Amino acid sequence: MRVRLPEKIVEGKFFASLKAKVIDSGLCSHCGACASICPAYGIVLDPSRPIDFPNWEEDCLDCGLCVRFCPRWDYRPKSGMGEYIDVFSARSKRFRGQDGGIATEILAIAFEEGIIDRAVVVGRDERWSPIATVVTKPEDLGMYAGTKYSFSPSMLELRKAVLRSKKGVGFVGTPCMISGLRSLQSKVKSFRKVKIAIGLFCMENFYYESLANFLSGKGIELGNIDKMEIRKGKFIVKTKDGEVSFPVKELSSIVPEGCKVCEDFTAVESDISVGSVGSAEGYSTVIVRTEIGAEIAKILKERCEIGEVNLKIVEKLCELKRANRPSE
Ligand SMILES: Cc1cc2nc3c(=O)[nH]c(=O)nc-3n(C[C@H](O)[C@H](O)[C@H](O)COP(=O)(O)OP(=O)(O)OC[C@H]3O[C@@H](n4cnc5c(N)ncnc54)[C@H](O)[C@@H]3O)c2cc1C
Repeated sequence: MRVRLPEKIVEGKFFASLKAKVIDSGLCSHCGACASICPAYGIVLDPSRPIDFPNWEEDCLDCGLCVRFCPRWDYRPKSGMGEYIDVFSARSKRFRGQDGGIATEILAIAFEEGIIDRAVVVGRDERWSPIATVVTKPEDLGMYAGTKYSFSPSMLELRKAVLRSKKGVGFVGTPCMISGLRSLQSKVKSFRKVKIAIGLFCMENFYYESLANFLSGKGIELGNIDKMEIRKGKFIVKTKDGEVSFPVKELSSIVPEGCKVCEDFTAVESDISVGSVGSAEGYSTVIVRTEIGAEIAKILKERCEIGEVNLKIVEKLCELKRANRPSE
């Protein structure tokens, strides 16, 4: 691949520079773009740990692609509502999701309309550790609905999906993952097979082990959890025995550094953004940004229940995320 490479900032192989400038400095968002482009397949996306390349001194090929496509290397944070064509609130009639089941509905429509033949989604194990998966049949999508509040190694699955897809790929991710995807798409043809990028609203994400330890400290048995959600400043955990909730602020000590510097609440680079803020319970807020997004949204509006959206509160959260960024 012929791309112009940035200057190394430390001596040694390129991964040493990525490590110094992005990973060890706390800028890394854990999006996984570096892992998805590494020709040595050496970069590890562990949901519980910062991004790593074990034995990089030996195994790194020094190609520089990890640095070239890292959206945080020359980081210019994006913020606000971004450009959009339409905003509405909706609930799927066929999928039960985290909110309105709309992220899943969008992927299902994209399959049914022949836009995609694969979708990269996030499942979980019985203790809520995220598992990224490629779905090839729309009837399997439902089981991956729901939010897992930990970093997902989705980009590694995306790499496989774009190589195997004939029609196109659907991708769901947090704002940083959508930025990683767009960075790759700017130069790498195979990643342009992603035909629909669904961005999830996101205030912060968590390392799996940090969140699991925190919840265990609250006396919550991870295997008992049915659903986790953030609503009106509260982190709510629904278990087989009832409900535990606490202010999200209590989690501030485990918010990763790379999330603290992020200003993008609504995933401004997606084709369609989906979140809970701005909609009534059981509905998702949908921000349509691109032509392909609008094509799918038109069908979605015909098939789903449509509700009222409160744009002011989405704007308020955008501003809050921007304001939360520590000053340099
Ligand atoms: C880490 C995180 C933080 C969030 N924070 C907020 C917030 O502060 N405010 C807000 O309004 N909304 C937030 N959301 C979005 C919200 O939780 C719902 O995902 C969104 O409203 C879509 O709901 P739905 O019912 O339409 O989606 P569903 O139909 O339930 O589909 C959810 C989709 O999300 C994917 N997914 C689940 N977990 C992850 C993950 N860890 N990484 C990538 N993809 C994943 C699944 O594969 C599925 O495709 C957050 C989501 C995540 C993952």
